[in-house]
Amino acid sequence: MTRPCFVANWKMHKTIEETRTYFIALQKKLSELPSQAWDLIIAPPYTAIFSASEQIKALSLPVQLAAQNFHFEAEGAYTGEISSKMLCEAGCQYVIIGHSERRTYFGETNQTVGRKRIAAQQSGLIPIVCVGESAKEREEGKTLSVIKRQIEEAFAETTLGVGLSLVAYEPLWAIGSGKTPMPSDVNKIHQEIAGFFESTLETGKKEIPRILYGGSVNEKNVAAFMKEPHIDGVLAGGASLSAETLVQMIASVVIH
Ligand code: PEP
Repeated sequence: MTRPCFVANWKMHKTIEETRTYFIALQKKLSELPSQAWDLIIAPPYTAIFSASEQIKALSLPVQLAAQNFHFEAEGAYTGEISSKMLCEAGCQYVIIGHSERRTYFGETNQTVGRKRIAAQQSGLIPIVCVGESAKEREEGKTLSVIKRQIEEAFAETTLGVGLSLVAYEPLWAIGSGKTPMPSDVNKIHQEIAGFFESTLETGKKEIPRILYGGSVNEKNVAAFMKEPHIDGVLAGGASLSAETLVQMIASVVIH
């Protein structure tokens, strides 16, 4: 297994105060783990990012921050939007791009995902690009073609450190549903994604992003996913809202 990566996507949960409480609990629980041989990235809502960043420094927490979205333009008349520069200043190192909830409810397209991926990398943010098929596409046997199209458009510009990005494979039907695919099936899909980067995009072996799985991951099932050779990490929504559960997830993978 490569160094496992855990991404916690809080979605529209937690105030600044709730974030403070969470990080205090997280510090206590993480200190009980025997090592720090893993990466932990937390994506709070925008309003909590700066105070989370200050707290991470104050508590020396082994945590990096991601935003859940941003606008690809550097600045301008885009009411309600936020730029990469603002996120970097607030303390983010990563940004989630193309989450299915953004695609479904907020008009995110493969094209905007591509623009955001480039804008993120130009400004020094590491993109976590989400891809995944719907239940209908899966039934119709279109899983791989849908994912390939999403990746092709997100990574059309290959001159920008593709290998530094992360890809999160998140089947839409598994997100927040309690349903999960078989870890071995996810492994095969991750292998296809890696092969796609290697061959079609001609990025070469060194440029294959770490590939995470997301969709109803929790402390009970995470170890089974992480045993698979092509699953480099997980992205968790619901289960990451509790610091205790998040650390249980990490523990179940790193403690044997
Ligand atoms: C997600 O937010 O991308 C996600 C996978 O959520 P959940 O873990 O709740 O399914």
